[in-house]
Amino acid sequence: MMVQYLAIKKEHPDSILFYRMGDFYEMFFEDAREASRVLGITLTSRNKGERAIPMAGVPVKASDQYLVKLIRAGKRVAICEQVQDPKEAKGLVKRQVVRIVTAGTLTETEILEEREPNWLLALSPLKDRIGLAWLDLSTGRFLVTECLPNRLEDELERIDPAELLIPETWGQERKEKGTLFPGLSANLRQVPDYDFNPEEAARVLQDFFHTSGLEGYGLDAGMMPAAVSAAGALVRYIQETQKTELGHIRKVEIFQRGNRMTLDRATRSSLELVRTQRDGERKASLLGTIDQTVTPMGARLLRERILAPFADIAAIHHIQQGIQECLDDPSLTENLHEHLTKIYDLERLSGRLSTGRANARDLLALQQSLQHLPGLVSSLAKAQSEILFDLGKQLDPCPDLAAKIEERLVQDPPITLKEGGLIRDGYDPELDELRSIGKEGKDWMTQFQAKEIAKTGIGHLKVGYNRVFGYFLEIPRNTNPSQIPAGYIRKQTIKNAERYVTPELKEFETRVLKSEEISRDLEYHLFLELRDLLSEQVQRILEAAAIVAEIDVVVALASHAKKRAWVRPEVGEDRELLIEDGRHPVLEATVTGEPFVPNDTNIEPPSRSLIILTGPNMAGKSTYIRQVALICLLAQIGSFVPAKKAKIGLVDRIFTRVGAADEISRGNSTFMVEMKETANILNNATRRSLVILDEVGRGTSTYDGLSIAWAICEALHDQIGCRTLFATHYHQMTEMADLLEGVHNCHVAVNEWGEDIVFLHRIQDGGTDKSYGLHVAKLAGISADILTRANEILQRLEEEGLAMKPGMFRKSPKRNMRQLELFRPPADRLLTEIEQLDPDQLSPVEALLKLKEFKDKYT
Ligand code: ADP
Ligand code: MG
Repeated sequence: MMVQYLAIKKEHPDSILFYRMGDFYEMFFEDAREASRVLGITLTSRNKGERAIPMAGVPVKASDQYLVKLIRAGKRVAICEQVQDPKEAKGLVKRQVVRIVTAGTLTETEILEEREPNWLLALSPLKDRIGLAWLDLSTGRFLVTECLPNRLEDELERIDPAELLIPETWGQERKEKGTLFPGLSANLRQVPDYDFNPEEAARVLQDFFHTSGLEGYGLDAGMMPAAVSAAGALVRYIQETQKTELGHIRKVEIFQRGNRMTLDRATRSSLELVRTQRDGERKASLLGTIDQTVTPMGARLLRERILAPFADIAAIHHIQQGIQECLDDPSLTENLHEHLTKIYDLERLSGRLSTGRANARDLLALQQSLQHLPGLVSSLAKAQSEILFDLGKQLDPCPDLAAKIEERLVQDPPITLKEGGLIRDGYDPELDELRSIGKEGKDWMTQFQAKEIAKTGIGHLKVGYNRVFGYFLEIPRNTNPSQIPAGYIRKQTIKNAERYVTPELKEFETRVLKSEEISRDLEYHLFLELRDLLSEQVQRILEAAAIVAEIDVVVALASHAKKRAWVRPEVGEDRELLIEDGRHPVLEATVTGEPFVPNDTNIEPPSRSLIILTGPNMAGKSTYIRQVALICLLAQIGSFVPAKKAKIGLVDRIFTRVGAADEISRGNSTFMVEMKETANILNNATRRSLVILDEVGRGTSTYDGLSIAWAICEALHDQIGCRTLFATHYHQMTEMADLLEGVHNCHVAVNEWGEDIVFLHRIQDGGTDKSYGLHVAKLAGISADILTRANEILQRLEEEGLAMKPGMFRKSPKRNMRQLELFRPPADRLLTEIEQLDPDQLSPVEALLKLKEFKDKYT
């Protein structure tokens, strides 16, 4: 056996080998040590002494939970099954690896996070582009795209794969340079370069999809060679690891960015779209707050929409109409909701069907789900909105599939497939007959027992069964031996009794056991037949699943709109953002104590396109500017928005930048990151974009920070003309409003009560000139002596004139880099000049002239 084990293990050196032995998966040697560490299971040993082999095992029935732990710990597991009936084996049972379980190829519904996709992603750098292919094996969705190398991290972050495949050489090079995705959480796997060869990859894909070319998918190798290369390598990988049919993967889609809003990594993370920044949890994110979907497909679709909202007015209006109808017609909504809540994960069930991993309970779940499709279809037939009516028309209710499962399967089947109990009575005459033999057997036994008691006169005689001896007659030890008939053959002695068999009993036993065995085999066969039959129809189920997801999202957005009294925004081609009584969609649902204070937004380019928002710390600046971005984003997934009234001019991209973000872990200084990300805005924003800047420039000294903030705002205003909200505590920035057309000031109102301040969280027109830093410090609990001293210093600073002077930001006619020099305070520059003077080299007249020059220049 160890020879067989070692031969198999040799082919899977980088996976932990689960070697099937009866009811256990056993691991040996290093695998066993590793597993016992990760899983906390006992390390035992096979053989003793010098030939001892470390060994650890997990029960097959509970293996899922152990699998998850190993996968989470970054391992792969090769499952090696007995592929031969032990009864038929001469000598050692044949064993074979039937599947390699990896983080990116999980299909276990019990293991996967049901409201999130599970992506396996392959990337292929080819010339100046990077091809990306990503697949959710559990649902069969398969997408490709290409991007420029500098966009790679954004793409990875958006897709968020569980496992990442890269070409070996490329990976090796980056590893040596230390640039191999430092912050990545996915499992990384290097794959032979050959698999990424574009011609080879194209061939693999054609074979996989049984097509003669890839044009049908818009993917001829000439057009997107990097994408083809990644897709081919990915398919190769799943074929190698899965070793099953993969019929649910029917097509590869090119990921369309065209009609979607673009959100980069920094924006997604600072707007906390699908997880919070602090703890990475979904719950308090935008998605976690608004997600009222009831099906896993719906939840995944909503997530996808939030990460890539529409930039297409028709699509947005379409969804809005559906939401409106749900709000206007509560009985329709209730009906839809009723059916939706009963539908399980059709996509993942399909995945399990095609990969041959669905058990009887999966099929039952499928049947129960499919049974609700006709209800959806008939409810939607009466719908008025185009979207709901069309979805109803497109939805295939699949009654034939539900019926097939129902007529064959029992209502509460076991998880195991080979132990019977799966198929309904009355479905198959042969099975019924075999079962009746088993049942008759019971009657037969009672009669047999009565008959033997009568014959022998032993009142305590019993017929029993155990696994070792089969059926037997049990007679108490104290029975008179003369009462025991000659035909009884003694088999076993136990404490108070002797056990016997008779030829008649043995004959009966063979008949019953045989019929049970045949019946179990037959049930298994009937089950597989049903599963195959369904898996041929898996495309229909997947299409239905996609439609169910769409319906679920519309109904869910309507429920949330109703719960929070959201309104339908007017989304159009103009560029204005007019929001009346807007609220932050997450905070309004989570603030406790005082109610959330609504605020208006008023942006109308070009006369009012850039808002500078000032106010003390904790006033609500960050909340407000994010709220505006989130309202735009919600409007563009077709949702209603938290406001009394809103008019949203279509946004093509949202950029959010936050000063001094906690980015140190990425290996760049905070300020570097801030500047890199900001440069990215200046390169990519368009007139249609919305830019949200929160304290940008904070990551450096005041003067540098202020200068940079100023220059960025100027560039956004002059070169791009996009809609911008800039929150800053540099109140000097408010001067920009006087200099540039389209720039306006707003501030967050604060009430002063002597030394105290009260935050009103209300946004008002006009700038502030106070930062209230000391008031905020007091609120935060800084002690009175320190505050008094701070006040003294502040007054000194103000008197000494170190504060900046008004007017110094006025544009000079010719703008060049020297302008930045002006931002340094005069005293500073004067000092520099004095430092550079050498009095020993000056004549008295020269010194006098210098003095006059300084006076002209600096006073
Ligand atoms: P700033 O960016 O000006 O320092 P924040 O936006 O971080 O301020 O807000 C500080 C706190 O004030 C938030 O945590 C929030 O609880 C509260 N807050 C902000 N805006 C509002 C509002 N409109 N209504 C109620 N509370 C608010
Ligand atoms: Mg802030």
